[in-house]
Amino acid sequence: MTDHDMTDLDALKHSLIEAGQVLEFLGHGDMTRGHISARVPGIPGHFIMKSHSIGFDEITMDNILTFDLEGEVVDGTARPHSERFIHSEIYRARPDVNCVIHSHPMHTVAFSNTGQKMLALSQGGAIFKDALPVFTDTIDLVRGKDTGAAVARCLGPHQAVLMRSHGISMAASGTAACVVLCVSLEEACQVQLVTTASGHDGWEFPDSDILALRDKLTRPDQFEVNFDYLVRKMRMALGRAA
Ligand SMILES: [Zn+2]
Repeated sequence: MTDHDMTDLDALKHSLIEAGQVLEFLGHGDMTRGHISARVPGIPGHFIMKSHSIGFDEITMDNILTFDLEGEVVDGTARPHSERFIHSEIYRARPDVNCVIHSHPMHTVAFSNTGQKMLALSQGGAIFKDALPVFTDTIDLVRGKDTGAAVARCLGPHQAVLMRSHGISMAASGTAACVVLCVSLEEACQVQLVTTASGHDGWEFPDSDILALRDKLTRPDQFEVNFDYLVRKMRMALGRAA
């Protein structure tokens, strides 16, 4: 591995640490049960991932593990998540995906139980309308390649798959996009739950308006702007130095 590769890998590990801190800050952690991974630049068959037994906000340069697409550890000594197969099988199926997040945000989990289709009742909803499949095979952890592959199949070409009574698996081109999409989905689920609980079905703008907004909200530069803001907001609230 060259010095240049090492620099890229260190930068990726840093982005994983920062993404984990933001996810925990925004309440996406469920004790130690959430996980995030990122594909290694230049080695598409390898990905780095948060380890078991720690929170999203406890990822360090030393406890990150590297896996191959079989879910085997190729670098690192920490305990691996049993659900790493969600990540390995999504990376196997989706060459365009460079970051995967699995988490249990409260409103997303609640929404997964309603059987409702995601509607564009909010701007976040506009991102996921007609693009949010639901994995219903099991409430249990995804501990094997077969189940991981089933999650990846259910995800299909989309960016998110709801896992009924369990959580969400999000797949995106990078860590900033993946975190912002998780935040957008959680807010969309909350808005739709509140709207439908009020006794209304919700009202939507025409599809052309919804798709035009989706294009704007999912531009790579928009994800970076939003993620950078979330990092600043977290640091200000926690009094953390950059
Ligand atoms: Zn889970």
